Amino acid sequence: MEHKKLTIIGSGPAGYTAAIYAGRANLSPVLYEGMQPGGQLTITTEVENFPGFSEGIDANELMDQMRAQCERFGTEIRSAVCVKTDLSKAPYHLWFDDETEIETDTLIIATGASAKFLGLADEQKYQGQGVSACATCDGFFYRKKVVAVVGGGDTACEEASYLAGLASKVYLIVRKDYLRASKIMQERVLNNPKIEVLFLTNTLGLYGENGVEGAHLIYNKGGEDEREYDLPIDGFFLAIGHRPNSNVFLPWVKVDEIGYIMTEGDSPRTGIPGVYAAGDVADPHYRQAVVAAGSGAKAAIEAEKYLATL
Ligand code: NDP
Repeated sequence: MEHKKLTIIGSGPAGYTAAIYAGRANLSPVLYEGMQPGGQLTITTEVENFPGFSEGIDANELMDQMRAQCERFGTEIRSAVCVKTDLSKAPYHLWFDDETEIETDTLIIATGASAKFLGLADEQKYQGQGVSACATCDGFFYRKKVVAVVGGGDTACEEASYLAGLASKVYLIVRKDYLRASKIMQERVLNNPKIEVLFLTNTLGLYGENGVEGAHLIYNKGGEDEREYDLPIDGFFLAIGHRPNSNVFLPWVKVDEIGYIMTEGDSPRTGIPGVYAAGDVADPHYRQAVVAAGSGAKAAIEAEKYLATL
C-alpha cells in the first residue's frame, strides 16, 4: 500500500494553490486532478478578475500556469478519479478509478462544484460561445447586449440583477409561475426595468450561426395557451443551482442539505483530524477562483501544522 503524507483531490484553483503551498513546505504532495483537469474555470473563456493579470488571462492558460507552479515545487500530479474513501481513522484510505489505492496522513478535498445544466445538446454546442453558468465570470462580455438567465432561485435573481448592470436587457426564464428566490431578491428583480421575467417558460434549444443568437422557448407546456417561440439573445446563462462534488466523501464528512461540505468557522477543517475541504465543494456563497485559491492556501497551512504534530 502506497503511503502519502498529503493527498489533494481536485485541480481547480483550490487544489493547485494547496499543492503550491504544500510543495514549498516540503510535504511532497500528490494531487489527483479528477474528471475535469483545471476545474470549472476551463469551461469559461477569459478570466479578468483574477488579480495579477491586468489585461486578463485565458482561463486554460491560468490553470496551466497553476499546474506548472505545483510541479515546480514537487507536486506529483496524477489523473485518476477518486471513487471510494474510508475516512473513519487515520491514515485515510482512498481508492481510484485506475484501480490504485493509497493511504494518506492528511487529505485536502478540493473537488469543486459543478453547475447544473438543463441537459440540452445546444448547451454543449455553444459552451463558451454564448452559454455560461457564471455571470460574474462572463457577464462583462455582454455589455449592452441582450441576455437570458434561466432559473427562479436566489442565484438566478442575483445573476440577473448583476447582468442588468451590464447588459441592455435581461430575460429571466422561470419554469414555474412564481420565483423561488427570497422576497428581497424577487423584489430586486421585479422592480428592475431592465429585467423581464418570463414565467411558465422552458427552453427547448438555442440557435445561432456564430455563437448564440437566440433561444427556442415554450410557454405553458401542456396548457391551453401553450406556445412555442424564438427569443433573440446574445448570451444564455444557467443559474439552476450547483452540485458540490462531495458524494465520494460521504458519510465521513458533514454536509449541508445541498451537499456542501461544512467546515469549522471560516477554517477549512472538516472536524476529521487532518482532513480539510477547500474551494467550491465547501463554499455555497462566493464560488470565485480567487476565494478558492485562498482557501486552498489555508488548507495546506493547516495540513502542515497538523503533520508537525504526528
Ligand atoms: P435553487 O435550488 O434555490 O433554485 C434553482 C432554481 O432553478 C429554481 O427556481 C428551480 O426551479 C430552477 N430550476 C432547477 N432545475 C431547472 C430546470 N431543469 N429547468 C428550469 N429551471 C430549473 O438554487 P440556487 O442556486 O438559486 O440557490 C441555492 C441556495 O443558495 C439556496 O438556498 C439559495 O437561497 C442560496 N443562495 C443565496 C444567495 C443569497 O442569499 N444572496 C445567493 C445565491 C444562492 P423550481 O423553483 O421550479 O424548482
